[in-house]
Amino acid sequence: MSGSKPFNLSSLLAGCYDNIYIFTHVRPDGDAIGSSLALANALKTEHKNVEVFCPDVIPSRYSFLPGVETFQDSFIPKEGKGMAFILDCSDLRRLEYMGEKVLRLDRIVNIDHHVTNEKFGDLNLIDSSAASTGEIIYRILQNDYELNYEISLCLYVAISSDTGSFKYENTTPQTMEIAARLLEKGVNPFYVSQKIFDEYPVSTIFLLRDALGTLQFDETGKIAWMAVDDALLRKRQANSAELDGFVNYVKNIESVEVGIFFHHTDFEETKVGFRSKTVDIASVAHALGGGGHPRAAGCTIKGRPEEVVKIVLQSVSRLISKG
Ligand code: AMP
Ligand code: MN
Ligand code: MN
Repeated sequence: MSGSKPFNLSSLLAGCYDNIYIFTHVRPDGDAIGSSLALANALKTEHKNVEVFCPDVIPSRYSFLPGVETFQDSFIPKEGKGMAFILDCSDLRRLEYMGEKVLRLDRIVNIDHHVTNEKFGDLNLIDSSAASTGEIIYRILQNDYELNYEISLCLYVAISSDTGSFKYENTTPQTMEIAARLLEKGVNPFYVSQKIFDEYPVSTIFLLRDALGTLQFDETGKIAWMAVDDALLRKRQANSAELDGFVNYVKNIESVEVGIFFHHTDFEETKVGFRSKTVDIASVAHALGGGGHPRAAGCTIKGRPEEVVKIVLQSVSRLISKG
């Protein structure tokens, strides 16, 4: 999208759609959940059938968000014409088992900020300069909808989540301006930070301790990684959403240019998270079947854990040595 191109949500919705479905990605983060709920809450003021979907459980830290209980993890299209909004998804694989059914809907609107977005929609509103999908949703809604407290709270969670509480490189003056408008609607930044960043269950801190125990470096010290598996999650009675943010500890080490987090599942499939200080890590993630942003990206790779680690480290080493 071109942030400057005029886009009118009301005229898009005037196309006689009986059902509006909003979808977001597996392993949902604050941007995925917050931007979906903000859009749903806004559209519900005028349209009856608005539903939100995610092919995964919603992490409990987001349970304070208005409407979060309406998320569904299976999708059965209703009678009549259906329009899908797909939020914060660089590709349809991010919708896992829902992707194929979504493709059969009458109109697909793809709203996203990933540089690797595959433009799978009938309408693609992609702005990779936006720090979050929430920022794009804010711009879309602000013309036509009353941004009440509930919508503002959802948008603030989306924006603060993808900017790491306004400290990542993607934070722009516009991000701050939007955040200021949301605070004017009554959003309390301390309350939100406590909920989504600063408070966690005991299991998370034990899990972090175990994960830090697996820290390794390559011979240059520029690449470092940690790895956990499902057996460890079971031992700590933790869920995979608690791993969110662990990769930052790896990236934050002084010598490190790329920090990597491996989560080996029971199904010979590894979820890989990348964080970079300098190089464009989205290119590596995309080449490995995933996607993301220049400084934060991810992919899922099938295979034995040690093989996956080897392939990933080779790809990242090659990228770093290219400079
Ligand atoms: P994470 O490390 O899970 O916080 O993800 C960092 C970024 O990479 C986010 O923008 C995700 O949307 C993206 N990402 C993570 N995993 C994948 C994947 N399997 N496919 C595409 N993008 C991904
Ligand atoms: Mn996301
Ligand atoms: Mn996002």
